[in-house]
Formats: sequence, C-alpha cells, structure tokens
Amino acid sequence: MVIGVLALQGDVREHMAALADVGCESRPVKRVADAGGLAGLVLPGGESTTLSMLLDSTGLFDAVAGLLDDGLPVLGTCAGLVLLAQDVLDGRPDQRFFGALSAVVRRNGYGRQLQSFESEVAVGCGFGGGFGGGFGGGSGEAPPLPAVFIRAPVVVSVGDEVDVLATLDGAPVLVRQGAVLAAAFHPELTADRRIHRLFAGMCGGGAD
Ligand code: GLN
Repeated sequence: MVIGVLALQGDVREHMAALADVGCESRPVKRVADAGGLAGLVLPGGESTTLSMLLDSTGLFDAVAGLLDDGLPVLGTCAGLVLLAQDVLDGRPDQRFFGALSAVVRRNGYGRQLQSFESEVAVGCGFGGGFGGGFGGGSGEAPPLPAVFIRAPVVVSVGDEVDVLATLDGAPVLVRQGAVLAAAFHPELTADRRIHRLFAGMCGGGAD
C-alpha cells in the first residue's frame, strides 16, 4: 500500500516522515503518472493559490478530482483543507478547489496578528464515530492535540454530513466527511501521530 503526497509545494517531506512513523509507505506525486495505484493522497500545506496554479499546469487538478470522485481517501492540511473545500472566502478569483468537503473556509482567516501560533485543540468529545478507533483508544477522553497554525484557514461552516473532530474557540479545525479528512493546522509538524494513524487506517493500512 502506498500513499501519495502531493509534491508541488509545501511540507512534503514532513508528511512522508509522519506516514513512515505510522508504518506507511508513501511517494511524492509531482505529475499525473505518479497518481496511479495509490491507497490515499495527502494534500499538504503551502499556498493554496500557488498549489491551484501548479495543479492546473501539471494536469494534476483533473487527475486528483477524478480520484476524489472515486472515493480515494484524502488528508488535506492547511492549504490542503482550502483545496478540498466547497467554497473559499478571501481566495483569488482564479483559485480552483475540489469541493470534496462540504465546508466553507476563509483563507488566512486567523488574521494577520495571529499569522502563526501553536495551540492545543480538544478532541475529547464531540467526534462521535468520526475518529473510529483512531483517537484516544476507546475509554475516556483523548489527550488534546498539539496544533501548529500557519496562516491557517478558518472553517466558517460545515454541512450536516461533516463530522467535527476537533475545535479551537468553537471553530472546527479537524473535520471528516467519509474518505475526506482535513485539518486547518499542520499535524506533520508535531510529534503526535494520531491524525496520520487515523488516515492510514482510512487508507486500509498502517501500524501502531
Ligand atoms: N494561507 C495559505 C493558503 O491560503 C495556507 C497556509 C498553510 O498551508 N500553512 O493557502
């Protein structure tokens, strides 16, 4: 089983290292030919407007859209969340996004004064079946997740079909809709591997 990591821009190596930590083989996806035979795909952080342009120029936009239509599990982080959203506020007019996640996001929504910050986000309640066995190990509350936010998008609203797995100040920061898992922050930049482990499980693999 191999998970692809979109490798046009952003923190590709960190995601590949995090996937290795949870027992998953991964490979960078730079062109359409790299996108075949994957068990899942990571859309890393970076700059969603640049990623949109590069996805277009490589032909990967349509290839990835097709994979998402087919239900390929996907993990989007930060700019990756923006790419997955149904609607993007404060984006560029020519910016494209996949619309695979029933959510409205505001690019750079945490504002200039808080462009980057680290916080702990609560995951102990409210995530129902969304996390399956991936978080907390069953009984009791799961420990909070360390979360690094870098010019992060704010999730303004989500549809009923979206499970909110973690929030910060009332706003969803980790969400799941079926095969789509998305975080406003950067789980690959901290040592907590619960999100990558959950994603590995969604892809049908991974080990503790
Ligand atoms: N602000 C970026 C965007 O809109 C996201 C930043 C990030 O991925 N760290 O795409």
